[in-house]
Amino acid sequence: SRFRHDYLEVRGLRVEFDGFVAVDGVDLTVTQGDLRFLIGPNGAGKTTIVDAITGLARCSGSVRFGGVDLVGRPAHRIVRAGVGRTFQTASVFDELSVLQNLDIAAGSGRRLPTLLRRRSGIPDEVAQALETIGLTALADAPAGVLAHGQKQWLEIGMLLVQDARLLLLDEPVAGMSHAEREQTGQLLRRIGEQRTVVVVEHDMEFLRTFASSVTVLHQGRVLSEGSVAQVQADPSVVEVYLGR
Ligand code: ADP
Repeated sequence: SRFRHDYLEVRGLRVEFDGFVAVDGVDLTVTQGDLRFLIGPNGAGKTTIVDAITGLARCSGSVRFGGVDLVGRPAHRIVRAGVGRTFQTASVFDELSVLQNLDIAAGSGRRLPTLLRRRSGIPDEVAQALETIGLTALADAPAGVLAHGQKQWLEIGMLLVQDARLLLLDEPVAGMSHAEREQTGQLLRRIGEQRTVVVVEHDMEFLRTFASSVTVLHQGRVLSEGSVAQVQADPSVVEVYLGR
């Protein structure tokens, strides 16, 4: 696939807020086909790492994706380099249809001219995204009527049509029912076959079922990394999660 050589490579990442070091020399390598989960107690630095990768937090160190150096680039350039993220609250336009939301997202990617010239029908990439996120039947429904889970899927679909090859997802199953979690996990697996996916998540059951690898953060540093079984067996992880 055209994504074959994509990988995220973070080296010595550091983020400081008024003298407080929130991210303290983090290294992270995530390859395409991996479904990497970032976990760690509140305040460990997970969201700040995502902010730094996507240009929303000033950082030092090196962040490369698909061979492109991202540090110091404005957020919109990072989007164009193929990096997309979601936030804990889905940001979709409630009054627009599912399809219109996807069209707008596609326009913010690289293919604006092609899409603008299309007057009828649904662009292939949008139809494909609808299929992938399971919302084809709801294409014309206003996004505002979607269930919580469906809104999250729409947001992921928006990243797909935006041509994101690296997806950074912040707590994608928060507030979801068990069935929605299961569907989200399957969705991320499908996406992860083609793209690089990093998931910030608290839900341990979801992680055990779907993570292919895990990075545990603590106080701005990588505490442990490996398969779910490996990090669960790591005494330092047990200590951080269960107390001394
Ligand atoms: P996590 O996502 O793992 O819960 P965060 O990345 O949100 O952790 O936060 C890491 C640390 O950085 C926390 O101590 C938090 O209070 C601090 N922090 C995050 N954003 C800011 C900010 N804009 N200004 C000051 N401190 C911040």
